[in-house]
Amino acid sequence: MKVVKYADAMQLLAQEIRKSGKRIGFVPTMGYLHDGHMSLVHMAETRADICVVSIFVNPTQFGPEEDLQSYPRDFERDLNICKKANVDIVFSPDAAQMYAVDHSTHVEECMLSEGLCGLSRPRHFRGVATVVAKLFNIIQPHIAIFGRKDGQQAAVIKRMVRDLNFPVEIVVAPTVREPDGLAMSSRNSYLSDQERTEAISLYRALLLAENMYHSGETNISVVRKAMNDLLGSYLLVRIEYIEFVDSENLRAVSELRSGVMVAIAARVGRTRLIDNTVIA
Ligand code: AMP
Repeated sequence: MKVVKYADAMQLLAQEIRKSGKRIGFVPTMGYLHDGHMSLVHMAETRADICVVSIFVNPTQFGPEEDLQSYPRDFERDLNICKKANVDIVFSPDAAQMYAVDHSTHVEECMLSEGLCGLSRPRHFRGVATVVAKLFNIIQPHIAIFGRKDGQQAAVIKRMVRDLNFPVEIVVAPTVREPDGLAMSSRNSYLSDQERTEAISLYRALLLAENMYHSGETNISVVRKAMNDLLGSYLLVRIEYIEFVDSENLRAVSELRSGVMVAIAARVGRTRLIDNTVIA
């Protein structure tokens, strides 16, 4: 497994791989890898010849009050996990490598980024779109895998790729969960024991929505109220939003139907968690 720290070296390597006729599969991550990340890696490995994982805690997608400094990091552990999973290349630049001190160019998706998490994280998706565009230019993948867990991010990236003609196929992989249903996330490591117990409430609320739909309920107000009540019964959980949107264009929908993404953001203690389900 190669570990590459410099953008120009990575770009040269990518060009050589492409020249040799091999397909590059790419999984962008912020590290502190878990089985959710690794499911994307396995998908990249089955869809491409060379699997590249980036590990980069991207400063531009964090707000000034957010957890950039405390974001969990364990590079050696991540490398071991990648080695075991037969990853071919880990690209792990530092921030100075990715952003010149006078960088002044951004990629901004201006529609899908507005609602949901965009309301409380105003610059977040601009940071995400910019770093993903840069990583695509550096790694030159044929295919890139993103997680459904970050449903809005996946929609924004798909839109950016379409609008800016990136020659990259975007695949969205299912959410991997802990045995009790909590969506795996690097940020779960922030949770105290009691918070971890209550964090399951997000998944329970999503299951409730799915079950109500499958019992014939399509009225969003009714489902939202039931989800609100359920989440409200947990002492440490503060809801940021419960939204019902079309999973592709993220527009609010008027009734529950197949293809609707039910999305939750909530604080459990001080940790902000998100989760979603797409109604089948
Ligand atoms: P992150 O390191 O949190 O930025 O995530 C990197 C990629 O892994 C993103 O495409 C996420 O959507 C994806 N991801 C994170 N958690 C999960 C999960 N539990 N299941 C599937 N994909 C995930």
